[in-house]
Amino acid sequence: MGKDPKFRSLKGMPDILPEDSACMRWMEERSREIFRLFGFSEIRTPLLEDTRVFTRSIGQDTDIVEKEMYSFTDRGGKSVSLRPEGTASVIRAYIENLASGGTELVKLFYSGPMFRGERPQKGRLRQFHQIGVEIIGGKNPFIDAELIMCLDALLKNLGAGDFKIFINSIGCSGDRKAYTAKLKDYLSPLKEELCENCRRRVQSNVLRVLDCKRPRCRNTVKGAPAITDNLCKDCLDGYSTLKNILYASGIPFDEKPDLVRGLDYYTGTIFEVMHPGLGAQDAVAAGGRYDDLTADMGGPDTGATGFALGVERLMLIMDRSAVDLPSADAVVIPVDEALRADAFRLMVKFRRRGIACEMDHTGRSLKAQMRKANKEGRRFVALLGEDEARKGKVLIKDMSESAQRELAADEAIEFIKEALSVKDG
Ligand code: ATP
Ligand code: MG
Repeated sequence: MGKDPKFRSLKGMPDILPEDSACMRWMEERSREIFRLFGFSEIRTPLLEDTRVFTRSIGQDTDIVEKEMYSFTDRGGKSVSLRPEGTASVIRAYIENLASGGTELVKLFYSGPMFRGERPQKGRLRQFHQIGVEIIGGKNPFIDAELIMCLDALLKNLGAGDFKIFINSIGCSGDRKAYTAKLKDYLSPLKEELCENCRRRVQSNVLRVLDCKRPRCRNTVKGAPAITDNLCKDCLDGYSTLKNILYASGIPFDEKPDLVRGLDYYTGTIFEVMHPGLGAQDAVAAGGRYDDLTADMGGPDTGATGFALGVERLMLIMDRSAVDLPSADAVVIPVDEALRADAFRLMVKFRRRGIACEMDHTGRSLKAQMRKANKEGRRFVALLGEDEARKGKVLIKDMSESAQRELAADEAIEFIKEALSVKDG
């Protein structure tokens, strides 16, 4: 707790201390239940990949690739990067290991740290965590519906409160080509109103301009033609089928015709989940279809879609009341120092029988130990006094009813296990 420690964690890469760790674990466990319900299995990809896995998929003109990746040359002279997101790695792994011609639906989830060299602020870190899923192997809008329903269930289950799902369709590559030309025509005369990056992007990757967060750029693109008005029949039909399924399934959503995503690989239906509690960093989860990526990366020509949820952002807004901090159920307290060894033996016995149990070794007084046990919400205190020790017994205090019982060690164990419904290990 030094004020001026010799070493500090890197900016935007905070330690996750026990309280937050417990919360993250809880989120992971809960999300696993939802993923099981929806038929996903887990994939764990490496944190480090060939840089091209990301540059090829995410796109050269994106914020992530232009300025946020942690890239370096490894000992073999190869450019490698810490993963800034999950999809590119999952598709790389799918093509390498799982793509049996691309005709089967492969449903994967992941959970873990991502790295982006952004300017750290509330809800925006350099090492952050995502929980995400990908469904690879189909283009049917029912798949998009399942995906969005899964995200909705996940957020509800994780106590996200009043989030809102916004959807849009950015069309297939054909639609995008035509639309890109229109958008260029619209924005070219307005270039002076755009930020330096966007001015350049009008030429190199005009869709990115729609995703710029600067208020002036946002304002300038307001009157631009909407991509949703420029979709081909297939994309339009797919999009309206999806909306109908969501209506019929009772999943609330809003359409947002100016929604685009910050990565190049998206096609068709995309979505973002906003939460009013997040202020400027208001997206808690996002995703969409990326039907061309698998083929672009050398795999089969097959549709895919996915989402990722920002764990730290969700932690800022979620209801944590259901999250339990793991702590031992019982504390053994020797009434005086001479009984420390006996108390220690008792603690060991408790643990052997599956009762989570601790004892103070810092020299606290009996009173202070009792106070601490109370404050930490321990259910049981096992008090070992001289009297009890002589009789081979121990005084068990059940803090939830302020009753106490003098019991032999084995009886005490049975009593506590019964009360906690601990199963024999
Ligand atoms: P933003 O628009 O906020 O920069 P993004 O579009 O870059 O988000 P995605 O790449 O779609 O985000 O990642 C999905 C989710 O991961 C986001 O909705 C957000 O909750 C979370 N996320 C993204 N970047 C960060 C970050 N630097 N720190 C914490 N969480 C992040
Ligand atoms: Mg971003």
